[in-house]
Amino acid sequence: MSAGIIDGKAVAASVRAALKDEVAAFTAETGIQPGLATVLVGGDPASEVYVANKRRSSVVAGMADLHQHLPEDASQADVESLLRALAADPAVSGILLQLPVPAQLDAVSLIELIPFEKDVDGLTTMSVGLLAQNKAGLRPCTPSGVIELLDASGVTIEGANVVVIGRSELVGRPVAQLLVNRNATVTIAHSRTRDLPAVCREADIIVAAAGVKGLVTADYIKQGATVIDVGIHRGEEGLSGDVAYAEVAEVAGLITPVPGGVGPMTIAMLLQNTLRAAQLQYELGGSAAS
Ligand code: NAD
Repeated sequence: MSAGIIDGKAVAASVRAALKDEVAAFTAETGIQPGLATVLVGGDPASEVYVANKRRSSVVAGMADLHQHLPEDASQADVESLLRALAADPAVSGILLQLPVPAQLDAVSLIELIPFEKDVDGLTTMSVGLLAQNKAGLRPCTPSGVIELLDASGVTIEGANVVVIGRSELVGRPVAQLLVNRNATVTIAHSRTRDLPAVCREADIIVAAAGVKGLVTADYIKQGATVIDVGIHRGEEGLSGDVAYAEVAEVAGLITPVPGGVGPMTIAMLLQNTLRAAQLQYELGGSAAS
């Protein structure tokens, strides 16, 4: 038996199409056009490509592109003063500091300057706390994309046994928290977990975010389980994930491919966060038009 494929490109396209309508309705109702301020420091080629994609996608969704670029040798004070200005600017709904930043900068303290209601990456301590307490706030994009894929595929999260492989602040921890908030029974596995295949065989849903190419093989999978592969690895044969796709697809019920699974969801969720940010600021009464 071969697993059904969860088509991340199609789900992302439908999220983006719905979002475009939602942005238009929000702007018509409030007079506010959501604006995304991507902040790029220096000229890292991969970061330039990522930021260009985010900017283009935000404009397609009907948002204002409020991109900021600082030179490679920008000081901590330069970036701090830019982030403070963006935090205070009512035209800016969302702020995204593109990582990594050049070595002379302290990314952790810079991120903390982003107010929670503009934190479209969901990485500040405040946003992490709001997620932990299941209170309204902005959630990290890739983890939200995982939940969106499960929902779009009709997978029942409530009551499901889920194993998340990985405990990073960017993916593993927040995805586990989102799943707990949706009433799943969640195990967080990591590099010190004993007998990972046995732990995973208990799972109705596996979220693989270890950053280890092909880690999850067929013997990890309970027949019919849903497998979400967050991993991205660039090799000579193209992109692949943390899941040994061909053999796992023989046992799983549903599976995300790499590429074309979780990857396309990240920008879609960033755009959704930017609209949520604008809505949150409007509700808090801090927007220009309120
Ligand atoms: P990370 O290196 O920060 O964290 C990896 C986690 O996996 C750690 O918590 C570690 O304990 C665990 N781990 C490592 N080896 C393991 C093993 N052998 N068994 C069990 N657990 C193990 O990585 P990250 O930032 O969380 O990213 C994980 C993967 O997801 C990477 O491949 C990354 O490229 C990818 N990623 C994809 C997207 C996307 O948009 N699809 C976004 C972010 C990250």
